[in-house]
Amino acid sequence: MKRNDKDLSLAYADAEGKVWDFPDIEPGFRTGNRFARVDPDELIELPYGSYLFSLPGRYPVFYNSSAGDFSHIEISPDGDDITAVSAFLASAYLRTYLPAFIKKDDAPVLPLWAYAGVVVMDGAFHVPAVRIDDDIRSDPAIHENEGDLRAAIRDMAARYPRNRLVRQLARCSTRYRCLCARNFFLGRFEAPVPTTQACNARCTGCLSMQGDDSPFPPSQPRLDFAPTPDEIAAVILHHFDRAAAAVASFGQGCEGEPLLRAADLAAAIRLVREKTDEGTITLNTNGSLPDAVKALVDAGLDSIRVSLNSPTEEYYVRYHRPVNYSFQDVMRSLDIALAAGIFVSVNLFFLPGFTDAESEVEALCAFLKKFPVSMIQTRNLNMDPDYYFGRIGFEESDPIGIMNCIKILRGDFPGVRLGYYNPPVNAEAR
Ligand code: SF4
Repeated sequence: MKRNDKDLSLAYADAEGKVWDFPDIEPGFRTGNRFARVDPDELIELPYGSYLFSLPGRYPVFYNSSAGDFSHIEISPDGDDITAVSAFLASAYLRTYLPAFIKKDDAPVLPLWAYAGVVVMDGAFHVPAVRIDDDIRSDPAIHENEGDLRAAIRDMAARYPRNRLVRQLARCSTRYRCLCARNFFLGRFEAPVPTTQACNARCTGCLSMQGDDSPFPPSQPRLDFAPTPDEIAAVILHHFDRAAAAVASFGQGCEGEPLLRAADLAAAIRLVREKTDEGTITLNTNGSLPDAVKALVDAGLDSIRVSLNSPTEEYYVRYHRPVNYSFQDVMRSLDIALAAGIFVSVNLFFLPGFTDAESEVEALCAFLKKFPVSMIQTRNLNMDPDYYFGRIGFEESDPIGIMNCIKILRGDFPGVRLGYYNPPVNAEAR
């Protein structure tokens, strides 16, 4: 199917999960609970290191030009059963549309991945997405170095034989393929510093803990020990000693909420700052405990990143399911961090049709006027969109488009950086 002189074909998967193109059929895309056509100019080639997934129990949707509407397909040109396909984008790319599909009655809930639409255009896979951060720290192309990694892990294990955190990071970088943990061993960019087993939230999409009633497993197991301030400081000091513009971050996907160990983290930060002024110490957090945030700022924390699925309280509470803290506590933590003058980011989970819904964009602009943060980390929400909308009771409102949302943020809030990663801020902040 020609559009703007581009050859578009629908991508689908066969029973073995192999992906094919259905010639001369323009695929539909999705935003919120609506199907949409996407201008070929909004498509980019599938970024290197991205994955393609078949979506079980789902038929692909296409744009039926003769009916001027959307329909779905159940069989391939050869008459075989087919399923819809989605892309999971490499890091630093923000998707702008979801895959469009019709679900069978027995369709399973999809696991914790960020599903993006995909199309075959001029013979190559393309996706509706934009690169939102030029930082290369998690580019798959610089992580094809198993030999170097293994050698670095052996070397580190010999240097820190009793440091359990070094052993944990070795597991994370090999078994869970955590690119942050790999960067620690390779002495570059951001090192993850997981420290906490417990959490005071029950986020619907938690990557490290899912309840028995959850329809999907966690992506990786949670940390099973509590590193000491000495073990923590040793890892951070080692990284700051080697990496240029180094960042060390508390609050990783394999742990609970680090604010619950604020006293130990403050002790670790002091141990580091006694030895060096180098590097940026940052905290990824749910922002639940304002007094603990104050204690870490006083200890020398350089930057903080607070996670939100939405600036709207009701959607926040339905997604994050806070235990013994409130949305107001999170806002107070932001106030404390802003007042202290450290670098403050919001880790906002983006979902096309929700984040760019008129009501959400208005709420986000009001939020930024009240909390003038330094950065929004625009993260693709890793969840089955239908499951998410059901859990938060999403009331549809007209989506303005993710790219328009980005345009508004850049236009109305030029001081707010948009990106994907915790930047090195120490030099800038001090
Ligand atoms: S705050 Fe983090 S660790 Fe806690 S439930 Fe949410 S995602 Fe999981």
